[in-house]
Amino acid sequence: MAIKIEKSIVDYSVKKEPEEVAIVPTKELMHEEIARPDELKGYTYKIKTPLSDHAMYVTINNIVLNMGTEHEQEYPFEVFINSKNMEQFQWILALTLVISAVFRKGGDATFLVEELKQVFDPQGGYFKKGGRFMPSLVAEIGEVLETHMRKMGLIEDEELSDAHKALLAEKRAALEHVSARIDKADAGYDSYSNKDQDQDKDSSFPPGAQLCKKCNTAAMVSMDGCMTCLSCGDSKCS
Ligand SMILES: [Zn+2]
Repeated sequence: MAIKIEKSIVDYSVKKEPEEVAIVPTKELMHEEIARPDELKGYTYKIKTPLSDHAMYVTINNIVLNMGTEHEQEYPFEVFINSKNMEQFQWILALTLVISAVFRKGGDATFLVEELKQVFDPQGGYFKKGGRFMPSLVAEIGEVLETHMRKMGLIEDEELSDAHKALLAEKRAALEHVSARIDKADAGYDSYSNKDQDQDKDSSFPPGAQLCKKCNTAAMVSMDGCMTCLSCGDSKCS
């Protein structure tokens, strides 16, 4: 169809296609329908306890959700536990199956950490490096889970305030001063060694420190007439 132009042409523009509406990617969260990809990203944590000559290896495989977007998030998908010591294999296998199932259900799985860490071995726990008490092997697996979830940003750190940190450092320094005097007075006194438990060797906490109920570390000392934990800062007086 011809159009007769009656007026002189003073301007023109090229007709454009309507602009495409940018699609905002929806953030995908973990849920049951997500099929296991052929490839997962794995992290292996070694657990060495005085309970066995053989170390235990906890492998947690992560699925990567929202890959390549700003919402990219690694989320645990399955857990495997391996050891040369297969004595405990039955319940360990059961535990890994249940934990993996909870991961795949999606939602907040961080409650597992607290549940596992509260398991006490009726035969007694053991001490880790730094005088930290581990109530059971299950609790230690819970701690591995905690480490992993922190690394993935699923658990956030409870930061001590600067003032609190400064107070702790001050108390530690005061205590070192006192122990140095004791060492001089009582030469040859081996303050904190136990041949059977070489894990305790690196302990920087004083002999005779009591177990802190908050962080399970033998780091509760009496300072200025008040029981204070040199590890987490918990104090009976505050
Ligand atoms: Zn503590």
